Amino acid sequence: MGKSYQKQWTGVFGDPVDDNPTVVMEQAAFDAAGIPMEYLTIQVKKGQLEAAMQGMRAMNFTGINITMPHKGEVLKYLDEISESARTMGAVNTVYWKNGRLAGENTDGKGFLKSIQDGKVPIEGKKAVILGAGGAARAIAVELAAAGIRKITIINGNEEHGRSLVDIINEKTSAEGVFVHWKGDVHIPEDTDILVNATPVGFVDDKKPAIVYEDLKEGMTVCDVIPNKAWTGFLMEAKDRGLKTFNGLQMLINQGAIAYELWTGKKAPVDVMRAAMEKEYGVKLP
Ligand code: NDP
Repeated sequence: MGKSYQKQWTGVFGDPVDDNPTVVMEQAAFDAAGIPMEYLTIQVKKGQLEAAMQGMRAMNFTGINITMPHKGEVLKYLDEISESARTMGAVNTVYWKNGRLAGENTDGKGFLKSIQDGKVPIEGKKAVILGAGGAARAIAVELAAAGIRKITIINGNEEHGRSLVDIINEKTSAEGVFVHWKGDVHIPEDTDILVNATPVGFVDDKKPAIVYEDLKEGMTVCDVIPNKAWTGFLMEAKDRGLKTFNGLQMLINQGAIAYELWTGKKAPVDVMRAAMEKEYGVKLP
């Protein structure tokens, strides 16, 4: 056989997408595994997703990540959608499954892997999620699928919060409860798992407005903020001796699941982790 100049393509469609760091960990993983795959960070504007999806089919992309603002619309252009992605109404990873273009959502699964690796019990437990956007929805659906008993959604916009609670109550086996977020909100005493699923802490050191004295022994505290190992929110929990999980490890885990869907091979998670630690200049716990 002669030399092949052909590459396989994957990447991400979104807008804005220029600051999406996924290329760093995926490319490091493909290179380490010797897979001739390129991860492309591609701006696809609103209104152009259908054409972009036709393009990725025509050019035989191995798969694609989907980010804002296309995670909901992309469902229309797929041949099949996983049950949890359908429940969330959002897909972030597209891959080929038996010749059909399939959609999965790896965000919540990446979160779940973090806490499962950390041996956090989920079945029959109670979770509180701050926020009701895409990340909150993905985490709520996966926690419910893993057997959590009750999920309290704390959110400022009542309509957003109630719509996620409806999904939990109508489409999962967990009980959903809504709490309206006004001022510094109290965290119920019987909370087992507390998750910050708001963007608070991304651009600065701000913390979600909760009563931090409510953080009690036995609670597991998790953040989705993907660009830091330690947010102010997680530091509050660490200072109280609580078990914590950060959004960077969640990001790496969800990227590892996407890698496995595209390549059919186990992801070199250590390589991905090292690449992201270098990118952000942090050391993960
Ligand atoms: P959305 O815009 O879909 O939702 C944001 C949610 O946060 C809304 O419920 C919003 O409330 C709430 N919120 C925003 N600002 C505040 C505030 N100041 N105080 C209280 N609540 C607030 O965003 P996503 O869910 O897509 O993303 C949220 C975060 O999750 C981002 O930082 C994102 O980077 C991160 N993320 C991390 C992932 C990972 O792998 N680590 C994966 C996916 C996302 P309201 O409804 O009232 O507007």
